[in-house]
Amino acid sequence: MSQTPKESLSAEAANAALVTSSQRSAFSHNPEILPQDEYNATLIANVHPADWQNPEPASRYNLVVIGAGTAGLVTAAGAAGLGAKVALVERHLMGGDCLNVGCVPSKCVIRSSRVFGDLTTAPHLGVRVPVGPDVDFPAVMERMRRLRARLSSHDSAHRFHEQLGVDVFLGEGHFVGPEAVEVGGKILHFKRAVIATGARAVHPPVPGLTEAGFLTNETVFALTEQPQRLAVIGGGPLGCELAQAFQRLGSEVTIVEMERQFLPREDPEAAAILLAVFQQEGLSVKLNTTLKRVTSSGKDKHLYLESGGKEEVLAVNAILVGVGRAPNVEGLNLEAVGVTYDKKRGVVVNERLQTTNPRIYAAGDICLDYKFTHAADAAARVVIQNALFFGRKKLSTLTIPWCTYTDPEIAHVGMYEHAAEKQGIGVTTFTIPMREVDRAIVDGEEAGFVKIHVKKGTDQILGATIVARHAGEMLDEITLAMTAKIGLGTLSSVIHPYPTQAEAIRKAADAYNRTRLTPLVKKLFNSWLAWTR
Ligand SMILES: Cc1cc2nc3c(=O)[nH]c(=O)nc-3n(C[C@H](O)[C@H](O)[C@H](O)COP(=O)(O)OP(=O)(O)OC[C@H]3O[C@@H](n4cnc5c(N)ncnc54)[C@H](O)[C@@H]3O)c2cc1C
Repeated sequence: MSQTPKESLSAEAANAALVTSSQRSAFSHNPEILPQDEYNATLIANVHPADWQNPEPASRYNLVVIGAGTAGLVTAAGAAGLGAKVALVERHLMGGDCLNVGCVPSKCVIRSSRVFGDLTTAPHLGVRVPVGPDVDFPAVMERMRRLRARLSSHDSAHRFHEQLGVDVFLGEGHFVGPEAVEVGGKILHFKRAVIATGARAVHPPVPGLTEAGFLTNETVFALTEQPQRLAVIGGGPLGCELAQAFQRLGSEVTIVEMERQFLPREDPEAAAILLAVFQQEGLSVKLNTTLKRVTSSGKDKHLYLESGGKEEVLAVNAILVGVGRAPNVEGLNLEAVGVTYDKKRGVVVNERLQTTNPRIYAAGDICLDYKFTHAADAAARVVIQNALFFGRKKLSTLTIPWCTYTDPEIAHVGMYEHAAEKQGIGVTTFTIPMREVDRAIVDGEEAGFVKIHVKKGTDQILGATIVARHAGEMLDEITLAMTAKIGLGTLSSVIHPYPTQAEAIRKAADAYNRTRLTPLVKKLFNSWLAWTR
C-alpha cells in the first residue's frame, strides 16, 4: 500500500536538510534522513535508535572499531564471532554509505528505472504497452525506502549488541592515547584498533554552487519530487548510474564531465557503448566540459559551462554532484597516535592494512583505492586475521572486481590492456561481441562484449571487461578463474547452459584454444586423420 510521506521533498528541501542537519547534535556530520515516514522511522530505529544507551566499557578490548559502515561491521562481527571482545563506534548511521546513501538505495532506484527501460523497448519485442509507461516517482522512492528499511535489520545496533555480542557505542570516536579511544565521554582501551571511517562526497569549489544548492548521494535519496531538469556533475560510476536512472524515470538529464570520456578509468570501448546507449535514450552528455560557475533565479539554476574555449549556459532545476570522495580523517586525532594520512588519499596503510602505528589498522574507503562495499568487506577479513592472529594476509593477493550498474552494466576485474603494456607485460586480448551470442540476440541485448586479456603466449588471465545487461553476474566466472589460477583454456571446457549470455566467456576461451592450433599442429592433425581414414 502506498503511504504518502508527511512532507514532499523537492531538490531544494533535500538540500536544505544538509544545512539544517549541522544544528542537530545526533547527526551533526550528516544530513538528516528524510522524509519522516514509517520506513525511515524503521531505518533509524535500527541504525541509530534514539533511545540508545551506550554500554559501560569493558576494561580492555581486543578490538575497537571506529565506523560502522561495511568495513567496520564486517570487522566487528567477524572478530566477535571468533571470541574477541569488540567495541564498535558509530557517529551517524550503522550500515554507513552502502545501506543508507549508496549501494542499496541506488540499486533500488535503478531497478525501477530498468522496468521503464524494458517497457519503452517492449514494442520491439512485439509487446504493446497500452499507454506509454508512466512513472510514479514518489512510489519509486517509497519502494526504495521500504526495502532499505527492511535490509537495515542486518546492520542494526540491537542485532550487533544482543545477537553478535559487540559493544555498540553511538557517538563520535577519536583517539585519546596510544591505546585508547573516547566516545561520548567514555574511554575504550584497546589492544588493537581499526579505523573504518569511510569517505564522504566532495563538494567542488565552483563559485555559486553552494549558494544555488546541490544534491549529493547524501541527499538525493531523500527526494520525493522528481527534478524536471537535472544536471549531473561528474561522469564516474555514481554519476552515470544515477543519470541514466533519473532520465529513465522522466527527468531531463545532462551529464557534465571534464574528461574526454566518462567513466575515465574504464575501457574506452566500454564507455563508448554506454555513451551511444545514453544518447539513444535522450540523455545529454557533455564531455570535455568544465563547470565554471552557477547562478540561480527562482527555481532555476544556471550552469555556466566551458568546452574548447566556448561557453554555454544550461538551465536546470537540480544539480547532483558526484565528483569524488574524500576520506573521513578529520577529528580522529590521528596525529597524536602516529597514524600518517593524506587528506585526499586517506590513511596510509601497508600491504597488511596496518597503519604507521602498528597497533592500529584501517579498512574500507578510508584507506583503499578500490572504494567498493565488497572491497571494504574483503579488507575487513584481512584485518581480522592480521590484527588478532599475527596473520600475514596481504591486500595485493586479493582479486577485486567491480561493476557499474548502468544498463548495460560495465564490469571489470584485473588489469586493463594499457596498464599491462605500461608494465611491459605482453598481452593478447580475446573479444566476443554480444551480437555474436545467441542469448543476447534473442533477448534483444546485443550492446556489449566480453573482452579477456591473457599474458602473451600463455592462457594466464590478466584481466577482463564485460559490457552486458548482467555483466556483474557474468564476471564472477572470470574472477573465480583468476582467484583459483585457472587459465582461459580451461574455461573452454566449462559447460554453459544454452542459451546463456555467459557463453560469451566460453567463446572467448574457444578463441584462445584456436590460437594453439599452429600450422605445425594443424599439419600433424591432418596427417594423422588422413592416415587413420
Ligand atoms: C551512490 C553510491 C552508490 C554506491 N554503489 C555501490 C555499489 O553498487 N557497489 C559497491 O560495491 N559499492 C558501492 N558504493 C561504494 C560503497 O558504498 C562504499 O565503498 C562502502 O560504503 C565503504 O564502506 P566503509 O565501511 O569503508 O565506509 P562507510 O560506508 O562510509 O562507513 C564509514 C562509517 O564511519 C562513520 N564514521 C566516520 N567518522 C567517524 C567517527 N569519528 N566516529 C564514529 N563513526 C565515524 C560514518 O558515519 C560511517 O557510518 C556506492 C557509493 C555511493 C556513494
